[in-house]
Amino acid sequence: MNTQQAENVDPQELNKFDAGGRWWDEEGPYKTLHQINPLRRDWIVARSGPLQGLQVLDVGCGGGILAESLAQKGASVTGIDLGQGQIEAARAHAKDAGLDIDYQLVSVEDLAADRPDEFDVVTCMEMLEHVPDPESVIDACARLVKKQGHAFFSTLNRNPKSWLLGVVAAEYVLRMVPAGTHEYSRFIRPSELGRWLRSAGLDLQDMAGIEYQPFEQAFRLSDNVDINYMVHARPKS
Ligand code: SAH
Repeated sequence: MNTQQAENVDPQELNKFDAGGRWWDEEGPYKTLHQINPLRRDWIVARSGPLQGLQVLDVGCGGGILAESLAQKGASVTGIDLGQGQIEAARAHAKDAGLDIDYQLVSVEDLAADRPDEFDVVTCMEMLEHVPDPESVIDACARLVKKQGHAFFSTLNRNPKSWLLGVVAAEYVLRMVPAGTHEYSRFIRPSELGRWLRSAGLDLQDMAGIEYQPFEQAFRLSDNVDINYMVHARPKS
């Protein structure tokens, strides 16, 4: 294993997500991920086309919320995470759900060295803002995706509004996610993400905001990328 690559992980950031059996509790610590999942799944499918028979990789898969929903669309899914508890929770749930998903405890950089150009779709959601070197993750994702494939990333924007709503309101006022989930300084502006995509050889195709509607207590997709947002990118032709 390449030691430099193996260091692109912050153990504290893994521990935050090691809630074992609570990953699939829709009212538990990952409630927000459950709430936004249908929106992001449908956006991914709308942009990539039908997933039936495609090879999909989900990077930083946690307990498998997105991975399972993509497997249910007929994809052959590999999910990777560096948290042992996350991978165990994901494996246990897929087994109970009767889904054949290949979950592995491996870094995205190591997988990219072993299996370049193998995946039709690579997803990496709500993970970049938890790693020391997000650019290295994007670069590895770019190597893993096939030339005609699709890559999807989501993260939190960095500005006063995302601090107020994404950290203060979400963690301490509305308690949508556990306190301490997010470190503001690690949030990523779309301009930064765009630059990293380009230097990894990816072309930005589209962007969508995931916006919270306080009155409905629900999320919807919008053009507003001020807080949580997703991007679709493809290898440069
Ligand atoms: N992508 C999932 C989970 C998001 S939570 C979803 O959107 O539903 C963030 C996940 O990133 C956690 O499971 C955490 O263990 C994982 N993570 C953090 N740092 C990581 C790293 N360096 N490599 C792989 N996974 C990492």
